[in-house]
Amino acid sequence: MDTNRRNFLKVAGISTLAGLGGTAVVEHLVTGAGVAQAAAEAGHGAAQAKPGAKRYGLLIDVKKFYQDPSLGEKAVAACHQVHNVPHFPEKRDEIKWIWMTKFENAFPERPNAYTDETTAKNTLPILCNHCDNPPCVRACPTKATFRGEDGIVGMDYHRCIGCRFCMAACPYGSRSFNWRDPRPFITNINRDYPARTRGVVEKCNFCVERVQIGLLPACVEAISDTKALVFGNLNDPNSEIRKILKEKHSILRNPSLGTLPSVFYLV
Ligand code: SF4
Ligand code: SF4
Repeated sequence: MDTNRRNFLKVAGISTLAGLGGTAVVEHLVTGAGVAQAAAEAGHGAAQAKPGAKRYGLLIDVKKFYQDPSLGEKAVAACHQVHNVPHFPEKRDEIKWIWMTKFENAFPERPNAYTDETTAKNTLPILCNHCDNPPCVRACPTKATFRGEDGIVGMDYHRCIGCRFCMAACPYGSRSFNWRDPRPFITNINRDYPARTRGVVEKCNFCVERVQIGLLPACVEAISDTKALVFGNLNDPNSEIRKILKEKHSILRNPSLGTLPSVFYLV
């Protein structure tokens, strides 16, 4: 971290704490226990859709990932390749945008001592939920992370001061921090997408750079023949994602937190 960034962090950290009420706020953010309460206190409800406005969402058909574990590998590889996600040798440095995990880790609110074998042994994808009511956005002192009108929660890497308030505020662990310079650890660089630097937070951006030019997110495109991932406009009742959501029961991660995820799971 350079001196300017460190100085800015000091000032931003102090003024943010002063403005928000000191250590109590940090504890509130760090524990994650106060996230739902923070959401309610902040007075942010679900985004009110303007006529014609889009809100993007992703549907994950879990059974398809259970049936074919290669789908997860392809989706993760595609995402990490287009976004220059580094491959650090040490687990503690790991940067993840989308990754595979067990059901019990993704849905800790649904404990089941008698889980079926398929669920117990297989994995499903998790990523940033692009919450409609995102605590990470409220926690960021520099607005480096923000929610766009289309519902995508983005990152401005240049504004990130590495304070990691957003990481503490995210109850899903969707964000990663660059403890080291990631650039030497990018195996196959994509020159159309920026690489990050040490001291910067990153996460899935719903492929905003692709969606804005009419492409599907890279993970969706990589396995599009299977329809294991369906991406679309939740505000359009005729979109494929809305039609499937209307027909089939889906679940959200930790709905009691009030974050209103835009990622839905068919289980
Ligand atoms: S999942 Fe976490 S990082 Fe993503 S929008 Fe929600 S709170 Fe923010
Ligand atoms: S939507 Fe894009 S950024 Fe997000 S996980 Fe899929 S490929 Fe990665």
